[in-house]
Amino acid sequence: MTRVYNFSAGPAVLPEPVLRQAAAEMMDCRGSGMSVMEMSHRSPAFQGIIDEAEADLRDLMGIPGSYDVLFLQGGDTLQFAAVPMNLSLHRNGVAAYLVTGQWSKKAQQEAARFIEAPIVASGADGNFSRLPDYSDLAIPDNADYVYLCQNETVHGLRFPTLPDTEGVTLVSDQSSMFLSEPVDVERFGLIHAGVQKNVGPAGVQVVIVRHDLVPEGDLAGVPVMMEYRPQVEKGSMYNTPPCWGIYVCGLVFKYLKALGGLEAMQARNQEKARLLYSAIDESDLFRGTVVDPAHRSIMNVTFATGDPDLDARFVAEAKERGLVNLKGHRSVGGLRASIYNAMPLAGVEALVRFMQDFELAHK
Ligand SMILES: *Cc1c(COP(=O)(O)O)cnc(C)c1O
Repeated sequence: MTRVYNFSAGPAVLPEPVLRQAAAEMMDCRGSGMSVMEMSHRSPAFQGIIDEAEADLRDLMGIPGSYDVLFLQGGDTLQFAAVPMNLSLHRNGVAAYLVTGQWSKKAQQEAARFIEAPIVASGADGNFSRLPDYSDLAIPDNADYVYLCQNETVHGLRFPTLPDTEGVTLVSDQSSMFLSEPVDVERFGLIHAGVQKNVGPAGVQVVIVRHDLVPEGDLAGVPVMMEYRPQVEKGSMYNTPPCWGIYVCGLVFKYLKALGGLEAMQARNQEKARLLYSAIDESDLFRGTVVDPAHRSIMNVTFATGDPDLDARFVAEAKERGLVNLKGHRSVGGLRASIYNAMPLAGVEALVRFMQDFELAHK
């Protein structure tokens, strides 16, 4: 068996101890005589798995009791519609969007199909190579929420601070930074994240929503599968949940707790990012594609040589060294190394060594 260093943006690397435990429990999950994939979601065994997953996630993030935690399906992209449908459509029908990269752009476009979704800050004119000024946002008085994507996976941007929303509910897409650092949950009305970036297998979205924001009655015109209330009432089991994904997420939550929680993850992640960005900054061949170092993501490191052919050679030669998935997103080109929680420091060190060798060879 050969494992590579996998820098994929998602689905992405998972912790080896978690993969081993999932393998060990594949044929007989905790004395049940069956795999978790074969279990009824209504069984006590699965109820135990989802309850523990929720409790461990609450513990890791310090999620207050006034927030509901949902494990949903449909891809995180479905939340681009579910958020405006639940939080705005039957309220004021207005929400303000910060558009800072591909994911918040898509979220704004989707919201605009259902509500008014004015863009109050946009990085589009710099091709999302920097965050726009967000110090003084013109948020409409009647906005139901302000939306941002805190870590833009494609462009490698991260908000170093949160915007002042003048008391308006803040909604954040945390997909590609979920559980990478401590979060003050109470700063947000709603956090959503697809887990296949930093946490688990594709097929699960976590939604953390302040309970008073969950609509009370039926939402006319909204598919029941997109309403939060039935899922809150049924503990994420209005219908069959993504059982396998929730189980693996639960294993990852326990693994992160054992490593010391989110503060420990942040320290590790910052160290990996520091190492890689230093290598980029010290290089004469590679350059970082994010203009302001303060806006650099610690999860998705974007860089380039400036020559698409050389970038392609870099990707191909890296692969021969067991360093895979370093190609930038198809919409922006260049190179991208996603260094999520489960990427060991040794993987980043191997990448840096390879970058130095490549630079010498291609001077
Ligand atoms: C990947 C990603 C999404 C979309 O996830 P899907 O599960 O593919 O729909 C949304 N937001 C961010 C920040 C992402 O990285």
